[in-house]
Amino acid sequence: MNTNAMFKLSYGLFVLTTKLQGKDNGCIVNTVQQIADKPLRIAVAVNKANYTHDMLKQSGIFNASILSEKATFDIFKRFGFASGRDTDKFKGFEDKTARSENGLIYITEGTNAYISGNVVDSVDLGSHTMFIAEVTDCELLSQDNSATYDFYHINIKPKPQATEKKGYRCKICGYVYEGENLPDDFVCPICKHPASDFEKI
Ligand code: FE
Repeated sequence: MNTNAMFKLSYGLFVLTTKLQGKDNGCIVNTVQQIADKPLRIAVAVNKANYTHDMLKQSGIFNASILSEKATFDIFKRFGFASGRDTDKFKGFEDKTARSENGLIYITEGTNAYISGNVVDSVDLGSHTMFIAEVTDCELLSQDNSATYDFYHINIKPKPQATEKKGYRCKICGYVYEGENLPDDFVCPICKHPASDFEKI
């Protein structure tokens, strides 16, 4: 079995936002899909390590802002590489957001649409929970192309700097672990991806 086959799957990229007890939070996900037409249903799988996961389990409502090819790396750093447990991800970003009818934030810059969902079911998948939602609202924001996961890696993520450092580089965010051996249970301190997402440099 070659798990690199998984990298041949195509994904979009989204900012998933929710709100609980007056607190807004959000994270980057790549797993929003339309899964039924009548009634209109979408699914999103969220890593249990994300604070947004715990909030969504309780709130049962979310917005998925669809990132476009105009999205900057700043959006990925802001929503993907920090935790809402100890930071307000929207601080200094207020002018690039708006609120939809459900009262939740959506992202207005570097996006081409948003979809509002009410969770109607969830499935425990181990590392992730899959939330199944009815679509309560959705709007177009621009005609820009949607960013795919491949597009992010080729065009948005900064190119690795030439470095004297020896060790392992995170393929997701570029963090470098210095050392001869990367522990199997190592987790990237920046983007929280596991040792299997590191390459030797
Ligand atoms: Fe990383």
